[in-house]
Amino acid sequence: MNSKIPAPKSKFITVKCPDCGNEQIAFNKPATQVKCNVCGATLIKPAGGKGVVRGQLLGEVE
Ligand SMILES: [Zn+2]
Repeated sequence: MNSKIPAPKSKFITVKCPDCGNEQIAFNKPATQVKCNVCGATLIKPAGGKGVVRGQLLGEVE
């Protein structure tokens, strides 16, 4: 048994909107599109369980 294989956990990430520069925390595996709270641009698109970040990924939220 190898316990070092990380489970595919969901995380929260900080993304920066490419359009207005707003930074917000979002789920990294969203069921629906994540939009910027300020300008409404799409930041993360769902893609088979894994989100595709369209904005700038700043980091993961611990
Ligand atoms: Zn924005």
